[in-house]
Parts: sequence; C-alpha cells; structure tokens
Amino acid sequence: MATDYGTNAEICQPGGRVKVYKWGGQLLDSLFPPACRLCGARTGAGPALCTGCRHDLPRLIHGCRQCARPLSGEAPRRCGRCQRQPPPFDHATALFHYQPPLDFLLKRLKFARDPGMGPLLAGLLAQELRGRTAPLPGLLVPMPLHPTRLRERGYNQAVEIARPLGRALGIPLNHGLCRRTRRTEAQSLLGTTARRLNVRNAFAVTGAAPMAHVAIVDDVMTTGCTASELARVLKRAGAGNVEVWVIARAVRHGK
Ligand SMILES: [Zn+2]
Ligand SMILES: [Zn+2]
Repeated sequence: MATDYGTNAEICQPGGRVKVYKWGGQLLDSLFPPACRLCGARTGAGPALCTGCRHDLPRLIHGCRQCARPLSGEAPRRCGRCQRQPPPFDHATALFHYQPPLDFLLKRLKFARDPGMGPLLAGLLAQELRGRTAPLPGLLVPMPLHPTRLRERGYNQAVEIARPLGRALGIPLNHGLCRRTRRTEAQSLLGTTARRLNVRNAFAVTGAAPMAHVAIVDDVMTTGCTASELARVLKRAGAGNVEVWVIARAVRHGK
C-alpha cells in the first residue's frame, strides 16, 4: 500500500540496520563537520542552522488563520478574502515568509536535491506544530507532482518535507492517495485567475479519504489555488477537515 510511515521501521528495528546508519552518520560527521547551511559556521549537530541564522529567518507571525496570508498589525482571525470567499481548506500553517534567506533553503530543497534540507525544514515546522493546542491531523498528504515532472526532477520536494515531518509528529503519510491527472503549467508564470484554471480538475483521489482530518504538505503556498483544488477533491472524497502546512507563504506582488 502507499501508506508511508517514513523510516520509522528503520529507526525502531533493533539490530544491524540502525547501527550501520549510525556508523555512517558518525563517519560523515568526522569527514564533513556539521556546518550551518546558510553561513557555514560550525554547528555541532548537523545538518542545521547556527543560532544567528535561525534568528534571521523571516518568521510569519501575523497570518490569516485560514489561508496564512501575511497581515499587518493586529491580525484579525481571518483575512478579508477568506471572509468574503473562504477557500476549501479550513486552516493553514505557514512558518515563514518566502523571503531571503529562507528562499535559499527552499531552492536547495526544490532544485538541488539537497538531502539534508527536507529534515531541516521539517524539523522547524514540527517544532511549531508540537506547540499548538488544536488536535493534529491523522494523515499527511504531500502535494503530488505529475508523474512526468516527478521523473524529470527525480523526487517530490513535498514528500521530502512530509516524510520527516510525519516521523517527528507520529503522523503517517500517504503519497498514493492523491495524484495529478494532468500536467499543469508552472503556477509561478501565471496570474491568479489563470492559476485557478490551470489546476482545475488536476487532481484525483483514489478511493475514499481514509481520515476525517488531513493535512496537505507543501514547500510554498502563494495564491493557494493548488492547495484549494487538492482540498476540494479531498473533501469530496470524505475528508471533513483539511489543513495546509507549508514552510513558507509567498505573496504575489500587487495582490
Ligand atoms: Zn549560520
Ligand atoms: Zn485568509
């Protein structure tokens, strides 16, 4: 089945595999001492960020409760757009603004296949989510890539975040539940209306959603059109509560 519990099995299994993994890690650490991924300073535990660079990351403090759009000053619970026309997802968590120096880390994740970046970013998001009082979802759904794009890139950056995130929070992930039924244009090249049309009917859920409360995991959310479309099909398949969890929230200029 497509349900994926990350590498829990490797961690929990007594015996050789864990040992080999640990030895491999120690060997790598001695050859390449852990360094901050932004400034190169020794961190003592890696791959990680030094304290200074961690403080420099552009935290999103005031965001709309529903779509995480950055709001200025005293934040109302929901932005004007969500009050006028709520998106199909119920709640969004975005840890950072999509701004330097965080954008560098996300580009490393998305285009450089940097193996340490998924765990690093997932760790920061897990820290935030552990502190919340609302119940956590029962299933994580990484934003699917079209199979052609997956073959081209070789990996799905949303899975690279969702896998360590699920492991940290004890939530299974399922990257076979939803699939892209057609290849879409890159959303970054399109305006808001075109983005909405571009992803319309782009997803299919195979079977009924196995959980009432699920979280879509992705690297960045900009207009929320893609997340909205996936949330819509998840709800149609039976999910009652759909959240969106992203590392960063971007805002289109002039919007
Ligand atoms: Zn640093
Ligand atoms: Zn909103």
